[in-house]
Amino acid sequence: MGLSIHPAVDHGVRPGRPDFGGGKLYCKCGSEQVEVTIASNSAHNHVCGCSKCWKPAGATFSQVAVVPRDSLQVTANGHKLAVVDSSAAIQRHACQGCGTHMYGRIEDTGHPFYGLDFVHTELSPDDGWSAPEFAAFVSSIVEAGTPPDQMNAIRRRLNELGLPPYDCLSPALMDVIAAHIAKSKGVLAA
Ligand SMILES: [Zn+2]
Ligand SMILES: [Zn+2]
Repeated sequence: MGLSIHPAVDHGVRPGRPDFGGGKLYCKCGSEQVEVTIASNSAHNHVCGCSKCWKPAGATFSQVAVVPRDSLQVTANGHKLAVVDSSAAIQRHACQGCGTHMYGRIEDTGHPFYGLDFVHTELSPDDGWSAPEFAAFVSSIVEAGTPPDQMNAIRRRLNELGLPPYDCLSPALMDVIAAHIAKSKGVLAA
């Protein structure tokens, strides 16, 4: 060991519950926590190596999933939230008190993932969220300072955890993006 992918998976990926109907996420402030309520289970949960996703201290990857936008509501202390980078495709709403990203939202209706919000299920005390299934943007952790000579060990560890490593998104999600582009160009029937 010695190598932390993310605290939620370092001791093995815990399975989710297919009948899980959602729960609450809390920021890390000691008081007046931002509370987000989600009325749905998550999907496409994964660990992500990109530099934009929020991750806890010491983690090499973030853990991030999607939920239907309509199922997510800020239910307490929303006044503490601010968008991290309004020019980014995913607008990450972060708590200004503790820095935790509470949800990421796409406002561009033409974006392949419009209608889905990005959330970190580890912020929930509830058990049953869909389990992480793969690792995305693995090579990007080098940009954040991981020495390239550790990458073989990291990819090996990800495979061992049952999180196949990809240097973009998973094949299923890359196909969703490609199909969206093909339909918008008229190459595929909508
Ligand atoms: Zn906070
Ligand atoms: Zn990411």
